Amino acid sequence: MATAEWTLAAGERLIARHLGGDWSFGLDHARTRVGCCHYAARRITCSTYLVAYLADDEVEQIILHEVAHGLAGPAAGHGGRWRAQARALGYTGGATIEVPEARLSARWRGTCGAGHEILRHRRPPGRVYCGACAKAGARRPVTWQDRGLGLLARG
Ligand SMILES: [Zn+2]
Ligand SMILES: [Zn+2]
Repeated sequence: MATAEWTLAAGERLIARHLGGDWSFGLDHARTRVGCCHYAARRITCSTYLVAYLADDEVEQIILHEVAHGLAGPAAGHGGRWRAQARALGYTGGATIEVPEARLSARWRGTCGAGHEILRHRRPPGRVYCGACAKAGARRPVTWQDRGLGLLARG
């Protein structure tokens, strides 16, 4: 899995090769997308939190996805101009980048009426009652919220 150090080095290397000196690379703490191209600031960032779930070559692909945005410009979106640029860089993915759900821990966040938090890798089938409340003799069902980390993207 990619470290923050590796990601920084890879980002700087790929930016130097493809975008040039007035672009910079950094890390951010996003939880819903891996990479982002900040056009006005001429900066590409990747999520420190999410790259930890990806292999080095997958992070490289995400950086190339963002570099292609930098080269194609904001108006291109994920259209033909961006796609041609991305392919030329060796990016093999599409407009969004999916991190296999199996690698993400605690995608599902459950809460009971008393505010206890329960984190689960997968949504539990059927109704779940809060264990902490049960110890205190109360029976409170848990409601689940999909934190949406299975589908990541783009920028
Ligand atoms: Zn509870
Ligand atoms: Zn994109």
